[in-house]
Amino acid sequence: MNTDTIAAIATAMAASGIGIIRISGEQALEIADRVFQAKNGKSLQESKSHTIHYGYLMNQDQMLDEVLVMVMKAPNSYTKEDTVEIDCHGGILVMRKILEAVVQNGARPAEPGEFTKRAFLNGRIDLTQAESVIDIINSKNDFALKSSLDQLRGSVLNKVRNIREKMIHEIAFIESAIDDPEHYSLDGYAEQLMQILGELKSEVQHLLDTAEQGKILREGIRTVIVGKPNVGKSSLLNVLAGSDRAIVTEVAGTTRDILEEHISLRGISLNIVDTAGIRDTDDLVEKIGVDRAKEYLERSDLVLYVIDSSKSLSEEDYEIAKMIQGKNVIVLLNKSDLEQKVRREDVEQLSEHFICISAKQGDGMEELADRIQDMFLKGNVSFNDEVIITNIRHKNALLQSLESLKMVEESIYNQMPEDFYSIDLMNAYEVLGTMIGEAVEDDLADEIFSKFCMGK
Ligand code: GDP
Repeated sequence: MNTDTIAAIATAMAASGIGIIRISGEQALEIADRVFQAKNGKSLQESKSHTIHYGYLMNQDQMLDEVLVMVMKAPNSYTKEDTVEIDCHGGILVMRKILEAVVQNGARPAEPGEFTKRAFLNGRIDLTQAESVIDIINSKNDFALKSSLDQLRGSVLNKVRNIREKMIHEIAFIESAIDDPEHYSLDGYAEQLMQILGELKSEVQHLLDTAEQGKILREGIRTVIVGKPNVGKSSLLNVLAGSDRAIVTEVAGTTRDILEEHISLRGISLNIVDTAGIRDTDDLVEKIGVDRAKEYLERSDLVLYVIDSSKSLSEEDYEIAKMIQGKNVIVLLNKSDLEQKVRREDVEQLSEHFICISAKQGDGMEELADRIQDMFLKGNVSFNDEVIITNIRHKNALLQSLESLKMVEESIYNQMPEDFYSIDLMNAYEVLGTMIGEAVEDDLADEIFSKFCMGK
């Protein structure tokens, strides 16, 4: 039976005043002590059962929230295990950050329904209730799996599958070579594998980066508006800023007067770099090439590329398009209220995302907000605890697979026998499998193995 310590957000993630993160298991108090700083300095482990403590929730040096913590010692808790409930402010991000801190300090994200399952296994719920409990757990599991698959739909899911395929391919090769050295040689394979590991690592790392939606929510989306003079960039900024004109702050460490405006769009904060200084010159393309602007572009999360759709595209427009290639670009065909000269086909080459707007009339802003939300929140921060938990589970799975890949590298460095490679590769493969709801697929493995082992 599982005796590890589990944690989850226990309250629904609606925009409510209070949220509860629940930790249950042998180490619940110890883990809570690592993230909680009581105002009176007392540790939770020393506290009596059924007491409430006031203080700060910390992740290392960073204060996450002011909280109340409830201590319930075994067996007098819902799960009959040592339980800590952290009563925090109910913001989605705060709860998520706290859960992450708790997980980083030793708890495991709970499976859906796991608290109830423990309550059941520890005899808190009697047999007559068992069936309905199991139903609930199952339906919660289905939901969690579905929501995690929803979340992963499309490109991410495919990427994980693709990464796993590469892994199983290498595993199959190693195993085949060990079994059948006459046909498969491992000479020079270590170097080859090293290179593949590098690629796999960066792919996993990339997924981890994109999984960092919290960062976007917390720090805002670094946005740059680009476009030729007179296409309507300032007008757009004005519309976005609305009546409550954004606070204008000077960006630290810059000597040029590039300003950043903070605009809140449906709760997502956009830090828009105002290219005022750049805009004033005749030759935008040349000016935008200056280092500072380039640096901003480089570091930006989002580029809003404004085009005047009442005029045909010019060489300059294509130059700018080239400059922002590979970035997250939304092309805004501005001045939709005028007669249109730019054709759809012209723009489709520039970016897959384009929207017709009229900065003058304020048209198209809802669609822009939708698009930004889709791009950065994958349309999917549904306010619901299971989704958030699976999110953190994904992150954990990715981190674990990264660790396993590093172990393979280490084995190569230390000139360990090849079967060490495949053990850690298999771990990486399996842990990614749990992320997408696929266990080790015997079929796939068989298929690939059979490809190699033709002589057998
Ligand atoms: P910027 O140089 O790119 O910042 O462009 P501005 O925002 O200063 O706009 C240039 C000119 O285009 C101004 O006269 C605006 O009033 C006009 N303009 C901007 N957006 C629109 C629009 O959607 N429709 C129309 N008809 N005119 C616009």
